[in-house]
Amino acid sequence: MAEIPEYVKKVLETLETAGHEAWCVGGCVRDILLSRVPEDWDVTTSAMPEETMAAFGQHAFPTGLEHGTVTARSDHNSVEVTTYRVDGAYHDHRRPDSVTFTRSLGEDLMRRDFTVNAMALSLRGELRDPFGGREDLKQSVLRCVGDPDRRFQEDALRILRGLRFAAVLGFSLDPATGKSIHKNRELLGDIAAERIQVELLKLLVGRDAAEVLRQYPDVVGVFWPEVLPMVGFDQKNYHHCYDVWEHTLHAVAAVPGDPVLRCAALLHDIGKPNCFTVDEKGVGHFYGHSAISRELADRMLRRLKCSTDFRETVVRLVDWHDRDIPRTDKAIRRALGKLGERDLRRLILLKRADNLAQAPEFHDHQLELDKGESILNRLLAENACFSMKQLAVNGKDLTEMGLSGPAVGRVLNALLDAVMEGELPNERHALLSSVSRFVTEL
Ligand code: ATP
Ligand code: MG
Repeated sequence: MAEIPEYVKKVLETLETAGHEAWCVGGCVRDILLSRVPEDWDVTTSAMPEETMAAFGQHAFPTGLEHGTVTARSDHNSVEVTTYRVDGAYHDHRRPDSVTFTRSLGEDLMRRDFTVNAMALSLRGELRDPFGGREDLKQSVLRCVGDPDRRFQEDALRILRGLRFAAVLGFSLDPATGKSIHKNRELLGDIAAERIQVELLKLLVGRDAAEVLRQYPDVVGVFWPEVLPMVGFDQKNYHHCYDVWEHTLHAVAAVPGDPVLRCAALLHDIGKPNCFTVDEKGVGHFYGHSAISRELADRMLRRLKCSTDFRETVVRLVDWHDRDIPRTDKAIRRALGKLGERDLRRLILLKRADNLAQAPEFHDHQLELDKGESILNRLLAENACFSMKQLAVNGKDLTEMGLSGPAVGRVLNALLDAVMEGELPNERHALLSSVSRFVTEL
């Protein structure tokens, strides 16, 4: 088992020295028992919030006093210290109407969502585990603390947190917990879009994201009903050995755990059921599906209030996913100009995954992708020019040559085109001597 870091130990010591109980609690305890690196360290204490404030003096910050939370600074790190708490009644499936502080660790652990998240660890390595969290960790099982229906009805976000932990940790849902997730899924409708977005993106980057989605499409369907028609949709096409949903899940599993790529893989064929046709030979087609997928993806990501940059990047990948991969210098330079290196690399990864999720006899498309990728690598190694800011001349150079107004931009564009087409080298002298020719041509 990994050690509690020094700066966290100091926080526990400070509280104990002041006469209070103090424990590491929740996700950090789960993670060190799994030998994973915790995202953050949370401490729970018998001290009332004002006692915590007093114990840390000038190193204490009242970041959430009404919930009992004080942020303690320790060796340039922050640790959230929260008073043992009992949640009051829930009426909106979101938040307790009130919270009450308690002097009992047991009561605090009882309010926590899953058994593996309801353990506490002391300075001396003592583990408090009243609900069998350690055993569930060993069995890789995610199980609610207490009655699942009640816990999901109290706070519906736990439905998605459950799927998120299953995907990230590679755990299976305890049968009663899993059944209750299906049963109570509609309650997610009461949860703010931003909170759903956070959990969904964490779920998607999990190692078992595809498996969790396979088992719970109905849960995703509560906020993204567009997903549901994909499930079981027979493509009637020899390129495909899976229905649209299975194809999608294979693509999700085959891209790296980057939220943009996982999301693009999940949505790349979302428009397929809307544009399905069957020809006279009985073969299915999805003409124009990437444009429809692009529109749907844009709407779905807006609904979850994703950031503009995230949404636009995913939507662009969805839009481009069905185009032939560029395989000439010229075409790669163009694609670089439109997408930039990061997203062109993502597009190649998405296309690889899309292809691997098709019937095996078509997997030789990977060779075309290899070719595109090696051209890309070579061009980047050669410092190829694919954007205006890399061009060896700029607007000021042209103004100094006597050009003005829109002509400056037009000539710059023409020069960039000529460089990208391989007609001119990206060298200052060569470009400047071609300016007069472009001025006459334009
Ligand atoms: P992460 O690795 O994402 O930080 P975590 O388990 O630490 O996972 P947090 O959201 O940081 O999750 O919450 C810390 C702890 O607070 C959880 O482990 C759990 O004990 C408790 N908790 C958080 N959210 C809820 C909730 N909605 N219902 C019940 N308990 C919760
Ligand atoms: Mg945490």
